[in-house]
Amino acid sequence: MSVWAILAAAGSGERLGLDRPKAFAPLNDRPLVAEPLERLDASEWVDGIVIAAPPEWEEPCILVAEEIAASKVAKAVTGGETRSESVRAALAEVPDDATVVLVHDAARPLITNEVIERVVTTLGDGWDGAVPVLPIADTVKRLEGEAVAETLDRVGLVTAQTPQAFVADVLRDAFSTLQRSVTKSTDCASLVEANGGRVRAVEGDPRMLKVTTPADLGLVASWL
Ligand code: C5P
Repeated sequence: MSVWAILAAAGSGERLGLDRPKAFAPLNDRPLVAEPLERLDASEWVDGIVIAAPPEWEEPCILVAEEIAASKVAKAVTGGETRSESVRAALAEVPDDATVVLVHDAARPLITNEVIERVVTTLGDGWDGAVPVLPIADTVKRLEGEAVAETLDRVGLVTAQTPQAFVADVLRDAFSTLQRSVTKSTDCASLVEANGGRVRAVEGDPRMLKVTTPADLGLVASWL
């Protein structure tokens, strides 16, 4: 088994209100991207890494990798306008002989080796993909404008995190078959699902919070 990781780091992070992309927001004394990169590089499950970098930040991503001695990084590609387009660009650089592709949001710095192991070892036995999930504690409502249109039955609903693992050929096939709908999808599992793949849910980790606001950044820093 050869496992390649794609680190989706090309988001702008506008809601952080910084003068640089989210991947370079300061997390304690390092750029945010250093944390998930170091953790992926240290995982015995990961053989190689491709970073999807914000346009014009490819070189700084490679410099971060060198600074933390992340020896598994093969390349930093230019990300696209959406997350899916960024993943597509990185996937093109994953070697043909990779059998598993792990896709992770750089915005979730505290990726754990336990979750990597959980998603990777779930593949096979008819499962094309694996996604870490968390239960929903709150009541979930669907809005139309400001009006509550509906209260959803929470049973069976979860939130999805990354890292998500896929049989490499299944992910490649989903990207090439679903050309048009790729742009809108906010995770890779939804593409594999839409292409008829079987995706299994495994236990996520609340500490793999996705950094969106300055408060999230502070919270993740306090957990380091
Ligand atoms: O914007 P959001 O935080 O939901 O993005 C999730 C992840 O996808 C982040 O790690 C971000 O860097 C990445 N992304 C990307 N290319 C984009 C948009 C987001 O790699 N065009």
